[in-house]
Amino acid sequence: MGEPIPVNEPLLDGKEKQYLNECIDTGWISSEGPFVKQFEAEFATRVERKHGIAVSNGSMALDAAIVALGIGAGDEVILPTFTIISCAAAIVRAGAIPVVVDSNPDTWNMDVEQVEAKITPKTKAIMVVHIYGLPVEMDAIQALAQKYKLLVIEDAAEMHGQTYKGKPCGSLGDISTFSFYPNKHITTGEGGMIVTDDDNLAQRCRSLRNLCFQPQQRFVHEDLGWNLRMTNLQAAVGLAQLERLDEFVSRKRQMGQRYTELLGNVAGLELPLPRTDYAENIYWVYGVVLTDEVSFDATEAMKRLREHKIGSRPFFWPMHEQPVFHKMGLFKGESYPVAERLARRGFYIPSGMALTPEQIERVAVTVKEILSEGGQ
Ligand SMILES: *Cc1c(COP(=O)(O)O)cnc(C)c1O
Repeated sequence: MGEPIPVNEPLLDGKEKQYLNECIDTGWISSEGPFVKQFEAEFATRVERKHGIAVSNGSMALDAAIVALGIGAGDEVILPTFTIISCAAAIVRAGAIPVVVDSNPDTWNMDVEQVEAKITPKTKAIMVVHIYGLPVEMDAIQALAQKYKLLVIEDAAEMHGQTYKGKPCGSLGDISTFSFYPNKHITTGEGGMIVTDDDNLAQRCRSLRNLCFQPQQRFVHEDLGWNLRMTNLQAAVGLAQLERLDEFVSRKRQMGQRYTELLGNVAGLELPLPRTDYAENIYWVYGVVLTDEVSFDATEAMKRLREHKIGSRPFFWPMHEQPVFHKMGLFKGESYPVAERLARRGFYIPSGMALTPEQIERVAVTVKEILSEGGQ
């Protein structure tokens, strides 16, 4: 059967150690260290933005972005139901109301055709989330944002190095956010980044990140913030990772292409779209969806893979099916069939940066095998 194949393993064999040693040798380990500003500047440049604000993770980047935009009580924000809890949580914690749309069955991203019908006089923003490897159709979103004077929040946590019609993901919203969790294209262990071109928004995010301390009277507060600061140690790793982003993206694309070659003819599987007319897939993760002919669901498939020592993860569970939101009276009686199907029939297979060609072969063979084992 061979060694276990984890669902994710990062590659840390660039200058990570060298930069970390610099932190130790100089004693600069807190957020005041020089790598933080350098990482912010280089990351912002990479996504063609004026400002980068490094934070503790991608989830809190969303919380800060929402508050910085002034979104609060009674405001509605439209987002995909098929996404991570962080997106809806940030909206709800700010006192605003999440309003969801279903997914496009081909790209798994939000179905942009469904957004306009959800716009009301209370709608303040659209939160786009690029899912798994392909960007959202941004032209459609930006047209609606202009027509109805809405803000755009772009969650680009899974899109380092991706572009939409040649423009970097992360440059497509009024404010955009990234995560550097170890399964993202570049990692800082834990970490995130907010990017924007707007000086005021950037200033507000910096203040929110640092407890809203005031320059004049440090311990007198006009607003409530958080401690979302990134350490110099994290930024050191991030900087070393950023140096290799192009290499990492092409690695992921090769992995995705190889999986697609190996799994292309396997009955019972829907595979990620390799490209749309606006982007090439970067395969943040390699997701597969069981077709309706398969007699079992993703839970069973993942169990079978586990028996073969192969790691996998379920797809997102839709926001409108979250018990925590039902308890708050949200999404009662709402149904979004595409997202519901993706959640029940979709999962992703090992996709980490350190995955080898041999491991990809073994995963593909095993996926074929577990599908041919038939019903439960
Ligand atoms: C990973 C991820 C996040 C959360 O990032 P963390 O750093 O884990 O908090 C947010 N949104 C999306 C789309 C993600 O994939």
